[in-house]
Amino acid sequence: MPSFFDTSIEFLKGVGPQKAALIGKELSLFTYGDLIQHYPFRYEDRTKFYKTSEINADMPFVQLKGRVTKIDTVGELRKKRLVVRFSDDSGHIELVWFKGIPWISKKLKLGVDYVVFGKPTAYGRKLNIAHPEIEVLTTQNEKISFLQPVYHTSEKMKARFLDSRALSKLIRQVMVLAERHINETLPARISEQFGLIDKKFALWHVHFPSNNELLQKAQFRLKFEELFFIQLRLLKLKISRIDKFKGQVFKDSKLLTSFYNDHLPFDLTNAQKRVIKEIYHDMKSGRQMNRLLQGDVGSGKTIVAFICMLLVVSSGSQASMMAPTEILAGQHYEGLKEYADKLGLGIAKLTGSTKTSERKKIHEGLLSGEIKILVGTHALIEDTVQFNNLGLAIIDEQHRFGVAQRAKLWNKNRNVYPHILVMTATPIPRTLAMTLYGDLDVSVIDEMPAGRKPIKTLHQYDAKRLEVFGFMKKEIQKGRQIYVVYPLIEESSKLDLKDLMDGYESIARAFPEQHISIVHGKMKPQDKDFEMQRFVKHETQIMVATTVIEVGVNVPNASVMVIENAERFGLAQLHQLRGRVGRGADQSYCILMTDYRLSKEARTRLETMVRTNNGFEIADVDLKLRGPGDITGTQQSGVLDLLIADLSKDTKLLQAARNAASDLLEDDPELSKPENGNILRHIQSLKKSVVNWGRIS
Ligand code: ADP
Ligand code: MG
Repeated sequence: MPSFFDTSIEFLKGVGPQKAALIGKELSLFTYGDLIQHYPFRYEDRTKFYKTSEINADMPFVQLKGRVTKIDTVGELRKKRLVVRFSDDSGHIELVWFKGIPWISKKLKLGVDYVVFGKPTAYGRKLNIAHPEIEVLTTQNEKISFLQPVYHTSEKMKARFLDSRALSKLIRQVMVLAERHINETLPARISEQFGLIDKKFALWHVHFPSNNELLQKAQFRLKFEELFFIQLRLLKLKISRIDKFKGQVFKDSKLLTSFYNDHLPFDLTNAQKRVIKEIYHDMKSGRQMNRLLQGDVGSGKTIVAFICMLLVVSSGSQASMMAPTEILAGQHYEGLKEYADKLGLGIAKLTGSTKTSERKKIHEGLLSGEIKILVGTHALIEDTVQFNNLGLAIIDEQHRFGVAQRAKLWNKNRNVYPHILVMTATPIPRTLAMTLYGDLDVSVIDEMPAGRKPIKTLHQYDAKRLEVFGFMKKEIQKGRQIYVVYPLIEESSKLDLKDLMDGYESIARAFPEQHISIVHGKMKPQDKDFEMQRFVKHETQIMVATTVIEVGVNVPNASVMVIENAERFGLAQLHQLRGRVGRGADQSYCILMTDYRLSKEARTRLETMVRTNNGFEIADVDLKLRGPGDITGTQQSGVLDLLIADLSKDTKLLQAARNAASDLLEDDPELSKPENGNILRHIQSLKKSVVNWGRIS
């Protein structure tokens, strides 16, 4: 049965099929339900009148009461403007119009009382309000007190008279009709515990708040609900996996003992030991592991991955490691092979460029169980790749893989799902992790191996390029290698490619004695690889590249990272790039080059990079600057399309909602108790109508 909320908005008075289609196209609002959940993004305060002497340019919209005392037309032709002096008993302010001058000046009368509403701005040393709303003061508008909601709309909609006010009217129309249909979705116990107002009341006051206090209560209630249901769903998923999905039990750790005693190249950090323990615990427990391993660049995830593989391989099972690029898969393979060879374990690499004959051998080795460890790109999830018994599947740099690919790995085994370990080097703020990976258990490596020198980061203007070149020369003389990175935002951008080539040439001129590698996205994989290898083998001293080197590349002798046009990179990317240096014993440097002209946001990014090496701190700033949708890459942003809550601000509320959901499920895992009936009904209605839910897992 289609519900009231599924009714198309075209049936509203004043809408009709054409406007409905426009609203659908511009704002993706199609139904009554969509419209009700199109929340205002800000409010204009019409709860009080300010005095002209009280206002300043930092204030948002203000409402004034007073009299027009002077009307002038200033300037000629296109510079013509209408300047009106607006006075009250405390002083006066200028109102300015640049358009519609004849109409406004005809309307305004000296000596009449008006209500003015607008945004004060500083104009030289004076304050003015450009294009304010102005109405004759009446007993009605003098008494009225409310917060004016402001809704997102679009230019095309405004051209059809669908501005914020018009949307507000439509929403009022729906809200009146919806009166009987809006049900409470939370049990009384939770509402009481968190002091939440009733749903219907909250919806009304989020759209038509009569004062600030009610608005805040309404927003709090709706945010809580939104976060609560997401967490409830994720936690339910997690519980049902624990119940349903048995895991293979791995107990034999003889290989581990041998590796620890004879081959461990360094002491593990306490953080590495702790996460290994957590992962071992999962793989011995009899339930399928679904764990996220977070660790900043250089924190030593590879050895952790290998040690985890050992538990599985000790019992005769197999392990795989999937990386997002050929280069990374190659590096993982080299790294893991070094360890595997010491123990005599069969290991193979499978990528898109593996030859057919080689591929055939690998397929056989996997089926017979001779190959214990398979490293590769997404080539290893193709259906033709069959294992004898895959016990552990590791995914590196998860944010590049879609959720569907995670699911495909699950099915690599016939009877039991393999244990899944997702590794990510991009530190994710806790709120995001809780939402994106809320169904996973999380382990964090929050400690760097001992003896690392923190990377020194500097911001330099382009004018100082010669000095930077001088510094690079000195480092090369000490035997170090250097990365110079150019932005290539779109792989196809010709302009960016030209920047890179120009940069390469100027470096070639400045460093005539050095060998220089160049790597960019337009090159063939073999050529890229060849150039990379030259740098790895220290045949070249400088690597000029685009962000293709962003992830994972490990050249411990490279100690300087110069980032050109650094203002064009996001924080996460800058941090990833910087992580390419600081991998050896030497002091490392990251130099961020920019022009003098910088936006405020770019400045914040650069200052953050200079201030801290801590990935989690950087991730938090990033979240505040960009909002959650951008951070994880577009392919997953659907998960984070929240209607009212804001993951960069509502951290505490998210934690509270998660705790509430967790307590509730502990008490009533099936949601079968009568007092939780409205939760169950709400989940069912969400399943039917909201696309987001399907995308979450
Ligand atoms: P990431 O977490 O970025 O994948 P890697 O696993 O590549 O980091 O490790 C970075 C470097 O640190 C490697 O050269 C690795 O051998 C080294 N390393 C890892 N763990 C330790 C440790 N406990 N002590 C010293 N060096 C370590
Ligand atoms: Mg790594």
